[in-house]
Amino acid sequence: MEVYEGKAKKMIPLDDGKYLMEFKDDATAFDGKKKAQFKGKGWLNAQISAKIFKLLEEHGIKTHFIGIAGDNKLIVEKLEMYPIEVVVRNIVAGSLKRKLPLKEGTELKEPIVELYYKSDELGDPMINYYHAKILGVSEEEIKEMEKIALKVNEVLREYFKEKGILLVDFKLEFGKNAKGEIVLADEISPDTCRFWDAETKKSLDKDVFRFDKGDLISAYEEIYRRIMD
Ligand code: 5GP
Repeated sequence: MEVYEGKAKKMIPLDDGKYLMEFKDDATAFDGKKKAQFKGKGWLNAQISAKIFKLLEEHGIKTHFIGIAGDNKLIVEKLEMYPIEVVVRNIVAGSLKRKLPLKEGTELKEPIVELYYKSDELGDPMINYYHAKILGVSEEEIKEMEKIALKVNEVLREYFKEKGILLVDFKLEFGKNAKGEIVLADEISPDTCRFWDAETKKSLDKDVFRFDKGDLISAYEEIYRRIMD
């Protein structure tokens, strides 16, 4: 069985239909054009993801999370992954500024859900239901992913609000399990979410690295500290 190595994680197959998901200290941005390593990032993202997956499971959302296996590794269910990224947005930031005439920080009246094709070669282009169908993903499956993504947003937005953090936007990935169910996969961490301090609006996520806004580890530690409280 193959080991899959991505930019920030390694997937190591176990012999019982499970995977070890190992979080690396590597950080990349802008389609891998910007690269660095941050000691401790893998550990922080593994712990933060585990905590969030547990919270979502408590709210009835199916995730691939099974358990923590040491410092920077999670045990997860083996899934057949969809080549789709589902992004949910609550506040204007990032690439949305290039799509709509809205200023950064504007609160959206309702969340926006977007679909992207996960492809380094093509630079993760935004797609719609028609494109997804050509990629082998039906409209019904997309609708189910969007429904789960909006439920995740409801749960996480409220949870982070209580911790003094604004959930600006985030990216989710899904897979299908042996029973044919659509299951939330990948990670949910400051690498995949935009988190702003509710008071200062300071970034506590990968934008710190993308735009040289300070010390990445301090920002991720701040998220860790607040969710472990
Ligand atoms: P944007 O489209 O504004 O660049 O990203 C929206 C949100 O999705 C941000 O929270 C961003 O971190 C996350 N996101 C989008 N694409 C990716 C991706 O390929 N990798 C990671 N780690 N996060 C992504």
